[in-house]
Order: sequence, then C-alpha cells, then structure tokens
Amino acid sequence: MDDMNKLSNPQVTIQTIQKYNFHFQKKFGQNFLIDDHVIRKILAAAQITEKDTVVEIGPGIGTLTQYLAEAAGKVYAVEIDRQLLPILEDTLQEYENVTVVNQDILKCNISDMIGEGKTCKIVANLPYYITTPIIMGLLEGGVPAESITVMIQKEVAERMAAAPGTKIYGALSLAVQYYAETYLAANVPPNCFMPRPAVGSAVIRLTRREAPPVEVRDEKYMFRLIRASFNERRKTLVNSLRNEPSLGLDREKIEAALSEMGLSATVRGETLNLEQFARLSDLLSF
Ligand code: SAM
Repeated sequence: MDDMNKLSNPQVTIQTIQKYNFHFQKKFGQNFLIDDHVIRKILAAAQITEKDTVVEIGPGIGTLTQYLAEAAGKVYAVEIDRQLLPILEDTLQEYENVTVVNQDILKCNISDMIGEGKTCKIVANLPYYITTPIIMGLLEGGVPAESITVMIQKEVAERMAAAPGTKIYGALSLAVQYYAETYLAANVPPNCFMPRPAVGSAVIRLTRREAPPVEVRDEKYMFRLIRASFNERRKTLVNSLRNEPSLGLDREKIEAALSEMGLSATVRGETLNLEQFARLSDLLSF
C-alpha cells in the first residue's frame, strides 16, 4: 500500500476514526501512532525480515500492523478491544499474512498461537498501563520470542536499561537485564500519537539472552533479595534486607556475607551489579 494511504498519515487515521465513530478508551491505553518516521525506526530496531513471524501486541486500528505485514512473513496481532475488530478487518484487508486475535495479551498463549517449535519477534506500541506485567510475563514465561521491540514510557525504558550506581537503576533494570540485552533505539515525543500521551515515549529492544549472564543457585530467592534491596532506597542494604521478614535474615548474617564479598556494611543496594546480587543470594539463601 502507498504510504500516503496508510494510517500513519494523520488524515487517514482521522477519516477511519470518524467512519467507524470510534471512541478512544483510556482504560486500554489507546494512543495511536501518526508518524511514519517513528514506525520505520521501530521496524529498523526490530530488524524484521520476511522470514520472521511477528506478534504485535495491541494493533489498535492497524497503523503499525500495515508496515509489519509488508516487512514480515506472518503477523499475529493480539487486540483486547472488540470495537476495533471491524476497523482492523477494513484497514488490513489487503494483507493476507495477518491474523487478528481478539484476546488479552496477558492471557494469551503465544506458543500455541504461533505453532509448536516456532519462534517470533514481538513488536508493539504498548498500552503503558500494563508495560511491566507484559514485559516481565514475556521474559519470565519462557515465550519463544527472539526479541521484544516496544514503544513504552520513556522513564520506564531508561529504568530497564539503567546501569548500577545511577539514580534510576533498580529491581526492574536487574530483572530485565537478567533475561535480555537492552538497546534504546529512539525517543518519541507526544505529538507522534493521537491522542497525545501525557508522558514522553521511547522505543526499546530487548534481545533474549541464550543463557542468563550469571549463575545463581536459587533464581527466585535472588529476585526477592533484589526487590527488598530497592524497597527503601535511602537505607543501607543491610537495613533494607533485615526489614524484609520473608527473607528471614539478621544483621550478622548479612554483614558476614557482605564482608566475604569485600563489600562495606554500609553499602547501598543500587551500587551492586547482577553478579554481586547472585553471589549475595548464594551466600544468604541457605
Ligand atoms: N498499535 C497501535 C498504534 O501504534 O497506533 C495502537 C497502540 S495503543 C498504545 C495500545 C493498544 O493495545 C490499543 O489498541 C489497546 O486497545 C490495546 N490493548 C490494551 N490492553 C491490551 C491487552 N491487555 N491485550 C491486548 N491488547 C491490549
């Protein structure tokens, strides 16, 4: 399809919305893209080729989907809002490689949808209200996704990619970086969407690691330890951990572990990297 006739042209989006008397639903995080440069940046970051199967989360009226359909071999577009189905049928009618699935992505079994043994690339302009559950669900749930390239709130993207010792580094940075390599591909201002979101946005690509970058005996315990370490950022690591009853740790045990790692008893959680959290977890988890 000619770019002028695609939904990335704001006039085409307006006509489509009016034709179907569509009302944006805030509760579904509906902010549609109206800028083809941004869409091309998403496609370039996701490195989509015709060999790829793409799963798009939340196609909306099909703006990004039109481009994905032209670049990929097959596209599954999972949309929760039923009132968008007749619109998608219209805007995607010339693309035979697109299957629209009316489902909540948090309840969708992606492996079953794309077929046993197949892998996919996930691409989306995500509904911001459920960014973290979607991404952590995809990473932790063993979904066969080679990469996840998504538009999300800028601050959340920066937190995911943050390095130790920075103000924004935290449990989310460690959780994401345990499973994936992060790449911040672009910043996107509010005027690239209809309606404009109240926050800035960014495109981030998460490339799944073949294996975790650190070895740890009890992964679940390490993530509980990490969450507790960042619960109260102004506290020392010892105080944060000892205040978390579910970990069952006392000051002596934590200080002994830190000392064995060559760390001060007054160290703060935000200075530890993933390797150090893994080591600390191994020392404390028995
Ligand atoms: N992809 C379109 C675009 O870029 O213009 C729309 C993006 S809009 C930010 C997010 C989309 O996700 C909306 O169409 C919304 O209805 C859909 N959505 C919200 N929650 C969802 C969920 N739990 N599962 C699937 N889709 C969802």
